[in-house]
Amino acid sequence: MEDLVARGFTGVLHTFSENDYNWYRRQMERIVAVSHELGLEVQVGPWGLAHAFGGEAESLFMTQHPHLGQQFADGRRIGAGCPSQPEFRAFVKQWAQAAVDLGADRVFWDEPHWAHPVRFHPQPDSADAWTCVCEACTTAFRDRFGAEMPHELTEEVRSFREDVLTDFVRELVAHVDAIGGRSTVCLLPSVDGLHAVDSWEPVASAPGLDTLATDPYWSFFGLDVQEFVGGQARRTAELAQAHQLTPQIWIQGFKLGPDDEADIHAAVQAARDAGVEDLWTWGYEACGHMTHLDTREPERVWEILTEALTGGGRG
Ligand SMILES: [Zn+2]
Repeated sequence: MEDLVARGFTGVLHTFSENDYNWYRRQMERIVAVSHELGLEVQVGPWGLAHAFGGEAESLFMTQHPHLGQQFADGRRIGAGCPSQPEFRAFVKQWAQAAVDLGADRVFWDEPHWAHPVRFHPQPDSADAWTCVCEACTTAFRDRFGAEMPHELTEEVRSFREDVLTDFVRELVAHVDAIGGRSTVCLLPSVDGLHAVDSWEPVASAPGLDTLATDPYWSFFGLDVQEFVGGQARRTAELAQAHQLTPQIWIQGFKLGPDDEADIHAAVQAARDAGVEDLWTWGYEACGHMTHLDTREPERVWEILTEALTGGGRG
């Protein structure tokens, strides 16, 4: 935390995974307290909680509650919590209470999504690689449309999935607001397949929402940095302004190398040009510690990120 402050950062996001939630609650309180003592604002994120949010972490809850898992259209049930299941929603709200109790200044709802086919389906491009056709979803679909839920992605099914996910997020935001916390919702950019929220307006208008965020990781998606980061930042800023929210943009800080210096600066500039000042990067020390995210020469990339974001650095 001292290093972050010395580099000119003013906030930190602490991941609060199921592992931390189950076994390390007191340590997490200490980590948040140390951050606050040094003047850092703290966001706390669910980090892969029940495989329904962004983050590389595993889920004990889904091992204990496999019946709450999503089902692909081919009937395969997987270990990712279904947002149509009230018991699953109750678990996520318990996590949120714990996050607020830790002292989170903002609860960071990180990339709420339907299950990633690439992570769970043996043939992620096949026509049945989408969720969810579990009993809670099919019952809710029947109640709404008066017909059995098709196992194809019809317009009704698409609209149903979108509404379930949006309703889930809105309920979480309302819950955090009711217990005296503040929420950031970080939506996946819509380029990432069939599992994200497409329409952001119903999320931005969620009563009690504090901050609207997205994470346009240009190189991860293979997109032009200025066009992608600028476009997503403008979309976020416009919705935030319309709903009196803080707009927040995440700058890619993984799977890069020193040759990406110009793009890193361009990403930060594009977000600032869109009027976004609440800028964050994932993750600390350019994720050099994380095998899966594989940054080349992370020490140098971290210096570049620091310079781009705060103008500081440890040289
Ligand atoms: Zn379901």
